[in-house]
Amino acid sequence: MRLYNTLSRQQEDFAPVRDGTVRMYTCGLTVYARGHIGNFRTFIAVDVLRRALKYVAGHKMHHVMNFTDVDDKTIVGAEKAGLPLREYTDTYIAAFREDAQALGIEAVEDTPRATDEANLQAMAGMINQLEQNGHTYRTDGSIYFKISTFPAYGKLARLDHEALQSGARVDADEYEKENVRDFVLWKATKPGEPTWDCGCGPGRPGWHIECSAMALRLLGEAPIDIHTGGVDLVFPHHENEIAQSEGATGKEFVRFWFHVEHLLVDNQKMSKSAGNFYTVQDVVDKGYRLSALRYLLLSAYYRKQLNFTWIGLEQAEEALRRITDFLGRVDALTSAGEHGEVAERVQQAVTAFDAALGDDLNTAQGLGEIFDLIRALNIAMDAKQVGKGDADRIRSAFAHFDQVLGVLAMRRDEDARPPIPEAEILAAIEARHAARRSRNFAEGDRIRQELLDKGIILEDSPQGTRWKRK
Ligand code: AMP
Ligand code: ZN
Repeated sequence: MRLYNTLSRQQEDFAPVRDGTVRMYTCGLTVYARGHIGNFRTFIAVDVLRRALKYVAGHKMHHVMNFTDVDDKTIVGAEKAGLPLREYTDTYIAAFREDAQALGIEAVEDTPRATDEANLQAMAGMINQLEQNGHTYRTDGSIYFKISTFPAYGKLARLDHEALQSGARVDADEYEKENVRDFVLWKATKPGEPTWDCGCGPGRPGWHIECSAMALRLLGEAPIDIHTGGVDLVFPHHENEIAQSEGATGKEFVRFWFHVEHLLVDNQKMSKSAGNFYTVQDVVDKGYRLSALRYLLLSAYYRKQLNFTWIGLEQAEEALRRITDFLGRVDALTSAGEHGEVAERVQQAVTAFDAALGDDLNTAQGLGEIFDLIRALNIAMDAKQVGKGDADRIRSAFAHFDQVLGVLAMRRDEDARPPIPEAEILAAIEARHAARRSRNFAEGDRIRQELLDKGIILEDSPQGTRWKRK
């Protein structure tokens, strides 16, 4: 498998360094708000990477995705809400798990929280090691990383060394590239803020040390194989993670850096602070299916920005429907027989799909291969050149595609769950029958339309009325 590595700015061949197991770290959500669909573009791209590593490249995974449950934003949020930090962040962790599951994101092996005792201990341990190695200084009870002691500082973000303002300090978790400074590892206690004492003096961790410590504690010895996040994390977060981890261990921290481009709205980055965001619930409330959202977010190459529009979501729905209609047609095949040409065409598509995913996760190309296959097989079915004996082979190819894409399984789940309670649908069908029996056809039509607006289509037949999802 080839992957683009932000560190080298090139595609490189990827294989795990130890035991056929990919040790991968993902910077997870900062849990001061419900994640928006921009965040989920990154998490879905990482999920497709994880699935491709497993199901295309055949590797085992040890994948860690943290929750940032202490930083500048979570502290401010908890204070505003008048809740203890842990209680406040619990809500958003639960919301994230719910949204991630609804979006077909596979559960990863570890989901640590920064404020778990073992993680705070690991942070303190790393800071002590950095102190011993001469990379830090203390001021007013806070501990800073001195960037001038780490000559490789700037290698990921490709910083101009002239611009490094050694000696100047920054306490904020986030700052601009123009503002390269010594950054905080451990912040001295401020009135009203949560505080811990794990050997660095009373205070709380800076955001960057959290990820370095959790990654190495859970994934073991450096270097880890892959570290992922959105492109906005390259600087300062990931640059600082490298400085901390390599400054402490003296070893390379990460072999491959994988960064996902932003989801935009009206050509601006979707973000909580700009207020131009939608949540998963917003998408559901507008009557769209989450399988369509997942499809839309994964259909573009992860290294290209993607502008979110509702029309784009409708097109994703349409594309997905073409796949499910095709699979419905395969299930309904009646003519007997098995055809060598079909087997060959299907195998060709599987090979091309795997090659596309292996080429830096080119999902757009992979989907193109699927639609080429559908087109060819639809023509063959029209010509009666596909038989029941071919159906299993076709279905298992699509099962393989879906191990990586994870949208068809979601759709089956959605189909099994009506958008409104089934009892409500059955009652409406009964009311419509009653109206029609008393020749009130206008009322019957109104009920049919009302269900349609809720996403339910009625089909009348001599056996009675059946409903299905729009
Ligand atoms: P945060 O909670 O801000 O740390 O963000 C969680 C993840 O979402 C990070 O990997 C961010 O880089 C990513 N992210 C934030 N906004 C967007 C966006 N508009 N498009 C894609 N990824 C994003
Ligand atoms: Zn991180």
